[in-house]
Amino acid sequence: MRSSSPNHQPTSTQIHASSRGSSITRETHDEVMTPNYAPMKMIPARARGSWLWDTQGKDYLDFAAGIAVSVLGHSHPDLVAVLNEQAQKFWHVSNLMTNEPAIELAQRLCELTFAEKVFFANSGAEVNEAALKLARRYAFDNFDEKKTEIVAFNNGFHGRTFFTVSVGGQPKYSDGFGPKPAGITHLPFNDVDALRGFFAEKGDQVCCVMLEPIQGEGGVNPASREFVQVIRECCNQHDALMILDEVQTGVGRSGKLYVYEKLGIAPDILTTAKGLGGGFPIAAMLTTDKIAKSLGVGVHGSTFGGNPMACTVANKVLELVTESDLLEEVDRKSEFLVKELTALGTRKDLFSGVRGEGLLLGCELSDKWKDRSRDVLTACMEEGLMVLVAGQNVIRLAPPINISHGDIEEGLARMERAIEKLEAT
Ligand SMILES: *Cc1c(COP(=O)(O)O)cnc(C)c1O
Repeated sequence: MRSSSPNHQPTSTQIHASSRGSSITRETHDEVMTPNYAPMKMIPARARGSWLWDTQGKDYLDFAAGIAVSVLGHSHPDLVAVLNEQAQKFWHVSNLMTNEPAIELAQRLCELTFAEKVFFANSGAEVNEAALKLARRYAFDNFDEKKTEIVAFNNGFHGRTFFTVSVGGQPKYSDGFGPKPAGITHLPFNDVDALRGFFAEKGDQVCCVMLEPIQGEGGVNPASREFVQVIRECCNQHDALMILDEVQTGVGRSGKLYVYEKLGIAPDILTTAKGLGGGFPIAAMLTTDKIAKSLGVGVHGSTFGGNPMACTVANKVLELVTESDLLEEVDRKSEFLVKELTALGTRKDLFSGVRGEGLLLGCELSDKWKDRSRDVLTACMEEGLMVLVAGQNVIRLAPPINISHGDIEEGLARMERAIEKLEAT
């Protein structure tokens, strides 16, 4: 089946009307932006569904979805409609007032998950920051003041605020900023013995264990069911809170709304962001009544958290994801994609394995392509396919979960062409 690209191809007037004039180029970025990013050459002009067009009119199939954010693709008409509707009413009131979209979204999240209470913020790092502060405060309120230890895992990623980056397990992101927050221990991921050993020695000092059910930035490494269950057991025995960071894995990407549903446990705190607003910035921390008591009036806050525009969109995202057969389709699409990627990986001696869940997949490069994930990404871009990397040896794919079967096939064909060109150079 041919891709849907031509149907959505914008006219050149649309492209030029949406770019900000010919004086802006990729070089302008470097003149006015801090140099902490190194964005691609192309500048997007318009996007729709799983497709994106740059200011030159070139089309790209989007298997990156803005780093696992645009779960329903770009400019979903239902999301555009509710956003426009709310924009006519009011945009922002702060937490000096509550608002109906925020309350509705919290209700929905409580109905769909283990949660009884919800805190809203704007990004993954912010809700993880809130979760860590809550765990420390809960221990402070209920136990003794020595119960402050945070257990996290090597290669984990929890955001870029100083607290969250320190809890993350990649020193390259947290070194070089002076003294780090104290009381954080990193253990090897999926190592049940190391975890039991640590709890046997210092369990009573642990206030929380924080992990991603699938490490995203760290290479698309799923936590084993046993590992997650042992964490749950250790936390129960030692009055420690289990914090699941589902910022990347949540909102349907795995074929479930949240991955914990597959693992036979419920966390004490869950954080969700990226996909929640389908591209509009919003994040939520979910927890129970009992734990939420430690966030009394004034203990924590956010100016933009619970913004009605963001909450309106997130309500619609959750409705579209949960009140359709989208989640079952994720499993079918995933099966097909894994099968085809594995075949392509073998044919081209490109991948040694494909892992992950649903539509969050990591393809490990074979020895022949060792350390060349950037080259593969660049070659794919040139063929009009956007992918992600997770380190030097993993190609990460996170397409919109409503991507069509035809678009998946088109993306695979583009990837194969990209590899053939790379082989020829
Ligand atoms: C992206 C990500 C974060 C950080 O989210 P931001 O919105 O960039 O602050 C935290 N945790 C995980 C697992 C992530 O993938």
